[in-house]
Amino acid sequence: MRTLYRKFIIATLSILIISVTIGMIVANFIYMSSTKQKIDQQNVEIAQTITLNLENMHSNHSSLEPFLDSIGNLGYQIYVINESGQDAYFGNAFSKTELPKEAMRVILDKEIYHGMSHFSHKFLMMGHFSNDVKNTVGVPFTMSGEQYGLFLRPNNKLLFSDIHMILAWFFVAVTVVSISGVILFAKHLIQPITKLTEATREITRENFLYPLKINRNDELGQLAESFNNMQRQLQHNDEARKSFINNVSHDFQSPLMNIQGYAELLLSQSVTETESKEYLQIIDQESKRLSNLTKQLLLLTSLDQKAYPMKISEVQFDKQIKQTIRRYQWRLQEKEIEVSYNLAPIRMKADAELMSNVWDNLITNAIKYNAHGGSIWISLFKSESVITIMVKDSGIGMSQEAITQIFDRFYRIDSSRKSDGTGLGLSIVKQIIDLHGGEIKVDSKVDEGTTFTLLFPNIN
Ligand code: ADP
Repeated sequence: MRTLYRKFIIATLSILIISVTIGMIVANFIYMSSTKQKIDQQNVEIAQTITLNLENMHSNHSSLEPFLDSIGNLGYQIYVINESGQDAYFGNAFSKTELPKEAMRVILDKEIYHGMSHFSHKFLMMGHFSNDVKNTVGVPFTMSGEQYGLFLRPNNKLLFSDIHMILAWFFVAVTVVSISGVILFAKHLIQPITKLTEATREITRENFLYPLKINRNDELGQLAESFNNMQRQLQHNDEARKSFINNVSHDFQSPLMNIQGYAELLLSQSVTETESKEYLQIIDQESKRLSNLTKQLLLLTSLDQKAYPMKISEVQFDKQIKQTIRRYQWRLQEKEIEVSYNLAPIRMKADAELMSNVWDNLITNAIKYNAHGGSIWISLFKSESVITIMVKDSGIGMSQEAITQIFDRFYRIDSSRKSDGTGLGLSIVKQIIDLHGGEIKVDSKVDEGTTFTLLFPNIN
């Protein structure tokens, strides 16, 4: 995480440096193309005002010096030279005093010298501050019949006025505050990511209860919320997985123990023929139960992993349901259960084997959890948009609380535990119906009966 923090700060500083550089380039361009000429012109006007005053005052050499001294004190550097080569400096001293030849045209031809506008420096804009006599403007004037040249530039102190100092402090303050702001903001931004990384590590250690407290309204807050949801889901899955393994082990263990126990009894010498027949029947029952459990588990796992190779074809629902009823005729007769049905000839695109599993589970449940001499009603019909199948029995029914759990794996209502169920049938039914885009509803009352309603979209 330190690297992200470092990267953030480096990126900000780079942006700052790049913007300063671009700013300098733009400022230089504007200075070189227009500001320089304007400043030169302004200084020419100041120099002309000074020389006009000198000429109007009809000053002589003795009054020239105090006048230019006072101008020098106001913040200008001045160099004055006459045609006979006499010269004098006023105000701050120049660091370079060599005047170019063309500057003498001020005296000889009464031309204006634009040294500031033509002055060049390797740091471009910085040339403006060069304390060189070449970097001046020159104007001619006449005094006591003699031709003079006055060369002037504002001294650097004048250039750095109070307002410039205030501005300079302003920029220093802005830079310090923005850099500290960026550092603090980077910390504020990266802190939740560090927390998230820590929480992710805890999840890999199977700790699903690590508290992740990030209260923000931005994308990071949303990420933290999704993370918390994922954590809850993972915790739920982990609990489900553990209880699934627990249930599987238990459900395998009890029939295996029965088989083992009765096999040992059979092996002992003191078993009568009737006893041995009874024990063999139990072993047979228990091994069938184990086989059934394994088949159901395999089906459920492949449905879970979406690995089940669905074979979709046109399935005649009414025919399949009739076949299932026929298959369980002997059990119906045994319990004297009366079955009545009203099945419209309906075909739907589905996996025939899976659908047959659904009818099997619902009808055997309606028999298993039915009273002796009870009844079962099955109906199949369709409207424009929905295919409906109802399986209703007059059996033992179930409570509202049980209804919410019957589709959970291994769930069996206590009172019916003695029956030979596995608690997997309805969860398989639900998975199959989901895979076919359908819906299953239950309506039940204790001691009155249960109705399972299946709804499929009619898209044929
Ligand atoms: P099982 O193999 O135990 O039948 P299921 O998943 O098919 O497992 O059913 C789960 C539980 O729901 C059953 O144990 C039973 O208690 C209850 N149940 C299912 N169908 C009915 C029904 N028609 N009438 C009453 N209870 C039912």
